[in-house]
Order: sequence, then structure tokens, then C-alpha cells
Amino acid sequence: MSDLTTPHARLHIPGPVEISAETYAAMATPMIGHRSKDFVNLYDDIHPRLQELFGTTTQPVFLSTSSAWGVMEGALRNLAGHKKVLCCCSGAFSDKWVDVARRCGLDAEALQYDWGTPVNPADVKEKLDTGEFDVVTFIHNETSTGVMNPLAEVAEVVRSYGDDIMLVTDTVSSFSVVPMKFDELGVDVMLLGTQKALALPPGLALFSVSERAFARAETVEGRGYYFDFLEFKKNQEKSMTPSTPCIHTIYGLHHQLDNIFAEGLEARFARHEKLNGMVHEWIDSKGLDYLAPEGFRSKSLTCISNNKEIDVAKLQGIMRDEHSIALDGGYGKVKGKTFRISNMGDENETTINTLLAALDDSLEKL
Ligand SMILES: *Cc1c(COP(=O)(O)O)cnc(C)c1O
Repeated sequence: MSDLTTPHARLHIPGPVEISAETYAAMATPMIGHRSKDFVNLYDDIHPRLQELFGTTTQPVFLSTSSAWGVMEGALRNLAGHKKVLCCCSGAFSDKWVDVARRCGLDAEALQYDWGTPVNPADVKEKLDTGEFDVVTFIHNETSTGVMNPLAEVAEVVRSYGDDIMLVTDTVSSFSVVPMKFDELGVDVMLLGTQKALALPPGLALFSVSERAFARAETVEGRGYYFDFLEFKKNQEKSMTPSTPCIHTIYGLHHQLDNIFAEGLEARFARHEKLNGMVHEWIDSKGLDYLAPEGFRSKSLTCISNNKEIDVAKLQGIMRDEHSIALDGGYGKVKGKTFRISNMGDENETTINTLLAALDDSLEKL
């Protein structure tokens, strides 16, 4: 049996990311009942801080015991069905979302871009002008390509149609890395999973829902139970969840929120920006390329376009065997043609310097 003292490959993949021993320790608490006062206190304690991270002063933040995809599918089941769904597709996760919508029996259309190309708000406007759509799915940070899409601009387009079109935004790998402005931008659903920048175990998703979206959900039949937004709302009013949540990960979240607010949000954003810059400097010094164009590069991870034809599988092997570091080898159809370096979560200058030195050493040994 292995435990926390067992040597392991330190995760520098873009999720799940490395989890600190302190976080695991915070999770090792006696179990409590999910209908107990203890749970209400736990939820009450984290909720205002979650709202601050989401950038909302009025809307609830829900705890879903599922991975992010649960809420990505759930949002469609709550909001779509009257008109068509427009899915902004530019990478593995966004491409999959249109497939998920169709598997839910919905009429969904892809606004398709090549992987690495950011979503263009003018194209979204052209599609929405047809009047055929009432839900848009949008991925802020396309983790497969390292592109950060223009959320504010796309939100402005969607809101220009009033309350009729729902903007569902995946911030899975950008949440807590850059500021989130749920209220200000007029997003309808914002969601994430805890295994990315929050540096928690997988299995918990967080999301917020606008009043517009609650009103839409009222009109949609077949929302089911497990992801029913109105069920979440009713329970959250009592600081509870519809069903038994993953209480230990919520304890971990409590601990990470303590850390995040002790560091300060601005300092946390600046740290991610700085570490990301260190990775970029290294990439530039090697003459390597980026898949994402300048101005649209993620702050949480970097997707390197393998212009030097590095044997990525071999590089991963050396990193694992000689440096105990798990390196990503590219995702989906860009596997091997790209590889990605994550700098999100609890990383600091020392861990990033260690990573970059290990990469230098491994590249020499190829
Ligand atoms: C990781 C990731 C997901 C998938 O999350 P799961 O937790 O596996 O459901 C979705 N979207 C983005 C952008 C991601 O990075």
C-alpha cells in the first residue's frame, strides 16, 4: 500500500495537478453528516469566498459531486431544448461539448475553429443574428491547446441579445488563475472542476447560475434530478446540497480557500502570471513554438508546438524515470505534435525552476 510518503511522479500535467501534503491533511477529518449543522457551517464558511472568486455578490455557488463534465452536461439539460445550441469549438474539450449536446438529444451546431485558433466574437454574433440559438457553450481556457478565449468580448455579444440567450462558460482551467467576473460580464453558468488550479482532488465541481438561467430552467422539461439547477438552488438556501456530497474534498476546498485569501487574490493572479512567464522564457530560449497565438495564451498552462520534432514520449519517460515528474505529451489529436506544461495550483518559483532544469537535462539526454 502506498501513502503520502511513497515516492511519486510530481504532477506537472494540466490536471489533475499536484496536491500538497497540507491539503491532504486538511481532508483527513472525521466524517460529518451532510444534513448536520457541521455541514451547514462548512458550506456557510466557504460560500462567501467562493462568490468572491466567481465575481458575484448575488448568485449562489453550488457544490456538485461530479467532475466538470457533469455540470457541462447538466447545464445543457437545464437550459437547452427550445432552440438550437451554439457550441464554440476550438479544441478537445469544446469539440466534445457539441457531441455531448447531441448525445442529450439536442439540436447543436459547432462554430468550428482549427485547434489553437481563438474564438472570434464577430463569428459568434453572426451566428446569433440568425435567431436560431438560445444557448451558447464557451470554453474560457481551452486546456488542450493552451488558448485563452476572449470571454469578456463573447459575453458582450451574447448579452447584446438581452435575456434570451444563455452563456454557459467553462472556466475549468482558468478559475482562480485570472479574475472571474460573473456578474459584471453577465455570464449565465460558470463552472469548474477542483482538480485544476484549485489543486484539489478530482470529483467536485463548482458552479454559479444567473437569475436568467434559473428562469429558463423553470421552462425546461426533463432536467432530471442530479444536476437540476432548481434543486441545487432550493438546497443551497439551507446551505446544503441535493444529495450527499464529497465532504472530504469540501474540507480540502475550505483549506485551499484559506490559502488563497491569505495569499490574496491579486498576489495569486500575479504568481500565476509570473510562473507562466518563466515557462514562456524557457520556451523562447529553446526556440520552441506556441500553439496559441500571442495575446491568447493561457496563464495556467502552455501548449508547446513541437516544431523541433522532439520525441515527446521519450522525453516524458526521462522526466518520469530520472526526475520523478509527470509531463503531459499532448492531448487528443495534437498528442506528440504538442506537449503541455502546467504552472497552475500551488506551484512556486522553486518548483517551476526545478521543472525547467529537469526539462533541460532530459532534452540533453534524448
Ligand atoms: C479538465 C477539463 C475539463 C474536464 O473536466 P472533468 O473534470 O474531467 O470532467 C473540461 N474542460 C476543460 C477546459 C478542462 O480543462
